[in-house]
Amino acid sequence: MLIAARRRAGSRGQGMRGSVVVLGAGMVGVSVALHLRRRGCDVVLVDRQGPGEGASFGNAGLIQREAVYPHAFPRTISELLRIARNNSVDAYYHPLALPSYASPLLRYWWHSEPARYAQIVLAWSELIRTCCDEHLALAKGTEAMELIRSVGFLRLYNDPVALEAAIAAAEVGKRDHAVGFDVLDGDGVAAAEPHLLVRRVGALNWTDPLSVTDPHGLTLAYCRQFLDAGGRFVLGDATTLAAQGAGWKVHTQEGPVEAARVVVALGAWAPKVTGPLGYSPPLFGKRGYHYHYGMQGNAVLNRPILDANAGFTLMPMRAGIRLTSGAEFAFTDGAKTPIQLERAEPLARRLLPLADRVEAEPWMGIRPCMPDMMPVIGPLPRRQSVWCAFGHGHQGLTLGPTTGRLVAEMMTGEVPFLDPAPYRPERF
Ligand SMILES: Cc1cc2nc3c(=O)[nH]c(=O)nc-3n(C[C@H](O)[C@H](O)[C@H](O)COP(=O)(O)OP(=O)(O)OC[C@H]3O[C@@H](n4cnc5c(N)ncnc54)[C@H](O)[C@@H]3O)c2cc1C
Repeated sequence: MLIAARRRAGSRGQGMRGSVVVLGAGMVGVSVALHLRRRGCDVVLVDRQGPGEGASFGNAGLIQREAVYPHAFPRTISELLRIARNNSVDAYYHPLALPSYASPLLRYWWHSEPARYAQIVLAWSELIRTCCDEHLALAKGTEAMELIRSVGFLRLYNDPVALEAAIAAAEVGKRDHAVGFDVLDGDGVAAAEPHLLVRRVGALNWTDPLSVTDPHGLTLAYCRQFLDAGGRFVLGDATTLAAQGAGWKVHTQEGPVEAARVVVALGAWAPKVTGPLGYSPPLFGKRGYHYHYGMQGNAVLNRPILDANAGFTLMPMRAGIRLTSGAEFAFTDGAKTPIQLERAEPLARRLLPLADRVEAEPWMGIRPCMPDMMPVIGPLPRRQSVWCAFGHGHQGLTLGPTTGRLVAEMMTGEVPFLDPAPYRPERF
């Protein structure tokens, strides 16, 4: 069945702003689709699986207003040696996969040079600045608000020197980017989280981030808004995208879908579709995992915590306490190797009275990362009817609605609410 996008929108008497197929129904694609639909575009959202079942399913659930400094490639010898030993919780690599990472990692290292990094922070922090507002603009007054909590994000330290350094860095973030935080001493940490099993010297409490108790549920809630507004979701394979007349066509389980314009919001898989169109950005994946746990007795965790020494995060979620891992460099489609979770679990059990794992198999997702740590947003250089919305790395949940608004404003001819130039595809 051909989806007659134009006819359907017209029959509802909506303002016609053109037909768009959004490829990929993660947090980014759903947000783009919703923003386009609200502006009167006739939108079909296509994914090979249900909405929010990629990286957007199982992330740490943080809407990270504090993340104004993107994850840089380590530049000190001691840090590089630590990672090279391959026995840490925060980073792990498959030696056989490293050659496939060589080129993007080299570029990542180059962009992480302090002067270049400082320029990147300026552009990146502009995206981050409004992330909570953009989520709340979609969520307020809807079922989505039941999933969003404002409880801060605690970064625990057991080394006073490291805590002092973190406070000094946080002061800079507050001065330059209005990032809110307060500092807790050991007693403050124990009062905030009374069921911690060990005492910490102190913590930074980021006060601005929002935490989501079910990131998959939030993606579904935004998707329901899109559907209620007259948008359409269909299962289909984005790699079947082909030019059709002046527009595009993609095969779906409901037949071919045609549209004048396409948005590629395929996360880690985006180059599979842009590559055949002549655009192969140096995107690389950082895989990550989670397990959920119950808590013993009546113990609770009140807010997300990050153990700064070990490098793992624990979040209270609807499904249990979620333990997430750091970055794994492996073949994108390779089998799961949750080694970092296995290293983190005993450390987490020393911190909190965790009970049994909720599920037998860990969840795995892939962070879609760019070497310059910034997403790719805008039309393809030589194919202006194909738009990019991918590469959000560690902060795709955070930035989905921001990117959604920016893309929709540009595609419908509005003045974008922030300067999109730093994220344009032609920088690669
Ligand atoms: C362990 C972990 C913790 C994280 N914690 C956080 C956090 O706290 N805060 C935060 O902001 N971010 C976090 N992230 C990052 C965040 O999850 C990602 O940046 C974000 O989910 C990316 O969203 P996306 O929509 O671009 O991609 P995805 O959610 O991966 O969506 C891409 C979609 O494309 C679809 N697709 C792929 N190929 C095809 C095809 N051929 N045809 C059709 N469809 C296709 C997939 O099915 C998928 O639904 C974390 C990530 C991990 C792994």
